[in-house]
Amino acid sequence: MKTTIVDLAIIGGGAAGFFAAINLAASKPALKILILEKGKQVLSKVKISGGGRCNVTHAEFDPKALAKNYPRGHKELLGPFHQFMTGDMFAWLEEKGVELKIEEDGRVFPVSNSSQTIIECFEGETQKFGIEVQTNAGIDQINKLNGDAYSWELRGKETLVHAKSLIIATGSSPKMWKLISGLGHQIVPPVPSLFTFNVKDERLQNLSGISLPAEVEVFTTKDRGVSRQKLKSLHSSGPVLITHWGLSGPCILKLSAWGAREFYELNHQFQLRINWLPSHNEETLKGVFAEFKTNHPKHFLFTNPIEGLPKRFWQSLLKHLQIDNQLNWSSMSKSQMHSLAQELCAGQFHVNGKSTFKDEFVTAGGVHLKEIDFKSFQSKLHQDLFFVGEVLDVDAVTGGFNFQHAWTSAFICAKHLSTSL
Ligand SMILES: Cc1cc2nc3c(=O)[nH]c(=O)nc-3n(C[C@H](O)[C@H](O)[C@H](O)COP(=O)(O)OP(=O)(O)OC[C@H]3O[C@@H](n4cnc5c(N)ncnc54)[C@H](O)[C@@H]3O)c2cc1C
Repeated sequence: MKTTIVDLAIIGGGAAGFFAAINLAASKPALKILILEKGKQVLSKVKISGGGRCNVTHAEFDPKALAKNYPRGHKELLGPFHQFMTGDMFAWLEEKGVELKIEEDGRVFPVSNSSQTIIECFEGETQKFGIEVQTNAGIDQINKLNGDAYSWELRGKETLVHAKSLIIATGSSPKMWKLISGLGHQIVPPVPSLFTFNVKDERLQNLSGISLPAEVEVFTTKDRGVSRQKLKSLHSSGPVLITHWGLSGPCILKLSAWGAREFYELNHQFQLRINWLPSHNEETLKGVFAEFKTNHPKHFLFTNPIEGLPKRFWQSLLKHLQIDNQLNWSSMSKSQMHSLAQELCAGQFHVNGKSTFKDEFVTAGGVHLKEIDFKSFQSKLHQDLFFVGEVLDVDAVTGGFNFQHAWTSAFICAKHLSTSL
């Protein structure tokens, strides 16, 4: 087998691997850079991302606020975001001729609405700089040879490479994490993140499609080793979407990501307390009821929801509380007022499992962050070894943040290599 000798080998032809290669080549065109991709195609996740539209980044231009979207990595990424973040990626792509647009919720997409635009941009840059890309080149052995300038030896079925420096950009790959742990690195065990909650409950039946701003907190009667304090910290607010299977929407997705590890420990079985009217608590709500009673005594409860609540949702709660549909406000008892206020401000729901959100299989876990130097994304255990993108124990909520981490880590790593290689 012929040995290929290069300055830099990158394992993984995904978002982070390509971005690192292109940025290094742009500042040091003479370097020999090789991307090794195990699949037939490169950038396959970019292709399917954002429903085929590729949500490249997010219009959040404050590093501190941006970092808050990373349940794993928020502390570590703050420094890197001061060097390269959303606005820089925006400018980078536009400079290459990719027009971008910001949608109402802050997500950024190519104007073409096609991930192919990003792929063509990256492939064009790769060709421009003569970066070699090998597909069907899965690596299954990584050796560090002593006393050789090209000390990283990579082996695959039909691949043998010697490199001065090595970037591992293999995303969430259990096989590669095993190889990396063979190099002495600690791997935080992968668990699912970013999912919706399965809730089978008569109160939510036939309400799919209704979205309400809510406050959600987690509690459980069986803590299965998860500390009460940690559980207490798991709360979220924002739109909650009722679906055929249970609960989704930004508030739930955020919660699923921040609590990914705890929910895994609980086998995705736990209780939620939901306030469907976050501007109220039970006491203030009882005040609203009393006012309604005085002002509209003859109005039927069933046909007159309070505070703009959707009628179907309101009626479902009344049915659940067995309140007669002919009851008018003046006949409402104290105990009915109490139960309804409790249902609206602290309704309890049992979560029994999870579902994937729009095929976005996001994993929490990866190379332990304490073993990474975030000024260069270099391993603290091995010189000339770097990790970028999802292979690290970093993950984000939905909205373009996962790609932004890939761009930021790759850019900073390339910048460091441009001075050290
Ligand atoms: C359906 C879906 C939609 C998504 N949409 C978005 C979105 O719109 N916005 C967003 O921000 N995030 C999105 N994400 C998350 C985003 O795709 C990832 O965070 C991002 O792709 C990570 O980039 P990466 O380069 O680290 O890893 P990857 O893109 O996964 O690339 C890793 C590459 O390494 C290769 N590889 C693995 N092992 C080996 C080996 N042993 N040898 C050689 N090659 C190997 C893999 O084949 C792969 O090509 C989405 C994810 C999914 C699943």
